Amino acid sequence: MEAFRQLVYEIQDIKSTQALLGWDLETYMPEKGAGIRANQMSTLAKLAHEKLTSPAMGQHLTELRSQLERLDKLDRALVKEVGRQYDKATQIPVELLQEFVQTTAEAHHVWSNARQEKKFSLFAPILQRIVDLNKRMADVLGYEGSPYNALLDEYEPGLTVAQLDPLFANLKAELIPLIQAIQASPSQLETDFLHQDYDTEKQLLFSRQVIEEMGFDFRVGRLDLSVHPFSSGTGSQDVRLTTRVFDNDVFSALSSSMHEAGHGMYEQGINPELDRTPLGDGTSLGIHESQSRMWENVVGRSRPFWSHYYPRLQALFPEQLQAVTLDRFYRAINQVKPSFIRVEADEVTYNVHIIVRYEIERAIIEDRLAVAEIPEVWGQKVQEYLGITPPDDALGALQDIHWSHGSFGYFPTYTLGNLYAAQFYQQAKKEITGLEEKLAQGQLLPLREWLKEKIHWVGRSESADEIVRRVTGETLNAQYFSQYLWNKYTPIYDLKAAPRTVVSHG
Ligand code: ZN
Repeated sequence: MEAFRQLVYEIQDIKSTQALLGWDLETYMPEKGAGIRANQMSTLAKLAHEKLTSPAMGQHLTELRSQLERLDKLDRALVKEVGRQYDKATQIPVELLQEFVQTTAEAHHVWSNARQEKKFSLFAPILQRIVDLNKRMADVLGYEGSPYNALLDEYEPGLTVAQLDPLFANLKAELIPLIQAIQASPSQLETDFLHQDYDTEKQLLFSRQVIEEMGFDFRVGRLDLSVHPFSSGTGSQDVRLTTRVFDNDVFSALSSSMHEAGHGMYEQGINPELDRTPLGDGTSLGIHESQSRMWENVVGRSRPFWSHYYPRLQALFPEQLQAVTLDRFYRAINQVKPSFIRVEADEVTYNVHIIVRYEIERAIIEDRLAVAEIPEVWGQKVQEYLGITPPDDALGALQDIHWSHGSFGYFPTYTLGNLYAAQFYQQAKKEITGLEEKLAQGQLLPLREWLKEKIHWVGRSESADEIVRRVTGETLNAQYFSQYLWNKYTPIYDLKAAPRTVVSHG
């Protein structure tokens, strides 16, 4: 076990160094550093891969797997997780991996150009190659049922289409009527005042204060600027967040800071004993996203939160916000409006964008849809679910970077994050006395402590399914999220609908 641990530490040191170089690349690296940085990162990736697939690792795993019952809980989890990674890394032939890396590197430029030209047909040939590579990957990795399951497993270990289908069917049945009811509502919201001139330094200061009060620990973390916000770092003691700020938008910097701080606090909350191992990480993308979206949306767009923070924001921007009431502000930041671009979508319609992508990419991988047919089907689905038709491919099937990266099976994790967040929050309300009264007094730490104890601490030593069952007493249930949305938006849009309660699956 000791020799195995040493090898695991070395691999993780290489990976976390890679992550740090990636953070630097997006934040402070001078532009001309890009060439040498690419070399450095690919050398580190090769080193980590060599160590993971080394004969020494193979021997350790054979021995340890034969005596799993003699290990304690954490060691057992570590052997299982490293074993899972070893199996994947050794199953995939080097030629296939290289072809995948080369094709997706090439695809980035092709996709970006096609998007600029608004022509899906320019992207289709290389996308076809990426799809074929993904199907080969799925075959090599093995699967039961749909080949899409093998791909999904990369991002949400253990999840299958058999579990996803009913979750998404439930969501569609709840969200499409909600969106229609909101559109039919006579109370449409004004949002102009969110887009006046807002000093960026003041906005950043406010964002920093809020995330610190949420419990993001700046002694073991940083917040910097980048074009696309993200969170990264080297373990629980060094977490790097980024955000972006616009001088004509008072909400965006705060919102993305709270989102990334949700990710960052997850990392900071993991048992430090798990540092330098793959267990010292979030357990799945879906659970990770649940932490960011709970802070960004469930808390950060809630009335209790803003009843404390809005007077502070007004004091910071009296000229712009003095005449705007809390109620108007709260409604404005919760505007629901069907739109074409996923990343700009609101809390409700966002999930419909994900369902469109899920249905299309799964049909492609299962050979039920041809790549050339994507734009047409995309347009039909967006029209059917949101009532609008994208005027061109840039506002349709070319908007996301994911497929050019080779990522199929990634999109569902965004919506899973929303589902997990609503279910966890419901449980937190049961267990933390007066949670929303506390939020309304600016006391954010009780929620953070609860999340840390229940979800963060175990890192990857428990699976997503194990965590959600242990914390909430049932498997993932989409009704919590539907209920949350209906209950929240019924008063905002003066809808005529009865408040909903969840039927628990037990
Ligand atoms: Zn996120």
